[in-house]
Amino acid sequence: MHPEVPLACPQFDEAEAAALSAVLHSRRWSFGPALTRFEREMAQLCGRRHGVGVNSGTAALQIALEALGIGPGDEVLVPAFTFVGSVNAIVRAGAEPVLVDVDPLSLNIDPASAAAAVGPRTRAVLPVHLFGRPAPMAALGELASRHRLRIVEDACEAAGARDAAGPVGSGADVACFAFYPNKPVAVGEGGMLVMDDPDLARRARQLRNQGIDPESGSRLEDRPGLSARLSEWHAALGSVQLARLEQALARRAELATLYRRHLAADARIELPAPEPPGQRIAWFTFPLRLVAAHADGRDALLSALRAAGIACGTYFTPVHWLPYHRGRYRQVPLPVSEDVGRRCLALPLHGEMDAQTVDRVCTTLLRLLDRLCPSAP
Ligand SMILES: *Cc1c(COP(=O)(O)O)cnc(C)c1O
Repeated sequence: MHPEVPLACPQFDEAEAAALSAVLHSRRWSFGPALTRFEREMAQLCGRRHGVGVNSGTAALQIALEALGIGPGDEVLVPAFTFVGSVNAIVRAGAEPVLVDVDPLSLNIDPASAAAAVGPRTRAVLPVHLFGRPAPMAALGELASRHRLRIVEDACEAAGARDAAGPVGSGADVACFAFYPNKPVAVGEGGMLVMDDPDLARRARQLRNQGIDPESGSRLEDRPGLSARLSEWHAALGSVQLARLEQALARRAELATLYRRHLAADARIELPAPEPPGQRIAWFTFPLRLVAAHADGRDALLSALRAAGIACGTYFTPVHWLPYHRGRYRQVPLPVSEDVGRRCLALPLHGEMDAQTVDRVCTTLLRLLDRLCPSAP
């Protein structure tokens, strides 16, 4: 029996152990030099002035919205095809999500759908760089300036991705990252905001710590704040992981190329769109779709893959199909999100995988497709 293939898997070596040991012996376990350093490094990655570390990607998004003054009575445009954390953050900030559709090729927010959704209470747009692929920031920038919207980037899956305009995280009011173990910079639990505006950075620092800025002692007057600090352990791990990001992304790109090579000839599978020139995808899982004729076989295929020891996911179920969120928000027509939501599946892709494992995943997938989705489309 083969070992299980996880969907994602964090990497480490002795450098992580040394960084954790240094924090242990320093007795500074919160608000210390590791946090300051990791914040500076994440800001640098994105060409921004400030980084503010927090305890999750979702907390980063919530704090970004709150720091911008977005809350009750305000609407935030967000793609329906995303991880639920993007939407939970809006709801927790007290604002109302408005669900918009995605582009069928990139699976990122469709600027035309976002434009159609703008209403009198719309204050912000929250594009997601889904599966590590840069969202169309130039078009969203135009939309935002036309309607005076703020832009909060959900870059939680996309540290290190870039397009011709620059790195992901450089193109908006504020961008948010996550460091859960399935992300390429993995610390366990953690998140980061990056921005240029010093007032916004100060407000974010207050919001993560009960409304109090520990340096100046200044307190927020309009909101209570959260308890969402990033510990020294997590920050120290983050710096070590970030130093290896380029290498990790190069490895992920190689694995994505191998997947393409194995699966390109099969007419039942739609591969992710190729990387446009000037863009670098920070691969996050290997997301593919079954062709429409085989959509009904998707869930049986997922079960069979899991039974064969290959982890996989329905990344993502459209937000308006999820239990709490169903029917709660204003939305525009979402034909692409709903179509892709029925046909998508995510395969394992992470730095601990080798070529033989990709081979095994693909061989198993194609064998199961022959059994479960036999007819030519
Ligand atoms: C991982 C992720 C988040 C945040 O995740 P946390 O678990 O809160 O750190 C937010 N949005 C997207 C798209 C993600 O993939």
